[in-house]
Amino acid sequence: MKPIQLKPETLAIRGAKSQTEYREHNSALFLTSSFMFDSAADGAALFAKTKAGYTYSRTANPTVAAFQARVAQLEGGEAGIATATGMAAIQAALLTFLSAGDHLITSRSLFGTTAGLISGHISRFGIDISFVSQTDTAEWAAAIRPNTKMLFLETPSNPLGEVADVAALAELAHRHGALLAVDNCFCSAAVQQPLKLGADLSIQSATKGIDGQGRVLGGVVCGKAQLVDQIALYVNAAGLSLAPFNAWVLLGGCETLFVRMAAQSANAQALAQWLQTQPQVLRVFYAGLPEHPQAALIAQQQSSGGTVLALEVAGGQEAAWQVIDAVQVLSKTANFGDVKSTITHPWTTTHGRMSAEDKLAAGITPGLIRVSVGLEHLDDIRADLAAALALL
Ligand SMILES: *Cc1c(COP(=O)(O)O)cnc(C)c1O
Repeated sequence: MKPIQLKPETLAIRGAKSQTEYREHNSALFLTSSFMFDSAADGAALFAKTKAGYTYSRTANPTVAAFQARVAQLEGGEAGIATATGMAAIQAALLTFLSAGDHLITSRSLFGTTAGLISGHISRFGIDISFVSQTDTAEWAAAIRPNTKMLFLETPSNPLGEVADVAALAELAHRHGALLAVDNCFCSAAVQQPLKLGADLSIQSATKGIDGQGRVLGGVVCGKAQLVDQIALYVNAAGLSLAPFNAWVLLGGCETLFVRMAAQSANAQALAQWLQTQPQVLRVFYAGLPEHPQAALIAQQQSSGGTVLALEVAGGQEAAWQVIDAVQVLSKTANFGDVKSTITHPWTTTHGRMSAEDKLAAGITPGLIRVSVGLEHLDDIRADLAAALALL
């Protein structure tokens, strides 16, 4: 019979998996650091890669292999390489392709730790870096130099939901022989597939939407096999590999990714629209709002606004802290993409290490509050925020 072309929702559940002689229904957890050889010659063949198989779990592990192949199927990539954290995935994608004398262009609206990795560490290795506008493609074009090797961005941005035009930036990068790498962690493959928009690499922190229940850290980079294979060599050499147990947990996360993202995005959409009507709220930032200045582009790139929104209250940090301290249901924690709604103050947490000037340039103000919307009943999330906002 002709094989059925499975949709991403089905691949998330029935895609790549480990399979042993026991015909386990769920992927097995291979909690082993190394694998045995039949003979000395067998070991030599495995190490020389003339024979396929496993040698050592820093290099490859069946549970990790199943996880990274499953995410690659969802992202529309030929291959994926999993890492211990999202930051390890970003580091691997950058340092595999950038050498001293190369130039990197990136957005001013980056996740705080990523901004710190690039400006505080990557910059120490003789790599030139330009920070440009998240939304203005012309600024990216103007920053191109003969030695530009990579364009790196995340879209939508954290926490303001500003969107970069992935197809236009892919075209720009490729015209100049550079790679486009996109951090897809805000959306996950359930909402956006950067590779299908022309990006060369789709990177994510699996800690967020893929786990979805705030249990483990992990990361993954997907793309063409020729690129991913190079990153895999770096991950192995640098020791950034994902632990098998985490891969096993994250495989379970993949299975419910689409329904969670759809339900949480619907909650976020309704909450954002309700927040817009609240007198204490100056502005709401959410990629799903019809009045978002980039609504047309968002409709092309994303299947929903995603699960994270931000609101700005009058009264700066004092007012923002008052709201955060008053919530009873939402968790005060910096994770997002969790089934449990979370609330944070970007100015003093996720973006706390950036200078006030850089934060303001990125649109992060002291009165800004980020909410990651979970799976609780919308009425309860709304009631919690209404009571907290009423104190202002
Ligand atoms: C959380 C996050 C990361 C880092 O992921 P970890 O798994 O925490 O290392 C990278 N990029 C974005 C956009 C994130 O939100």
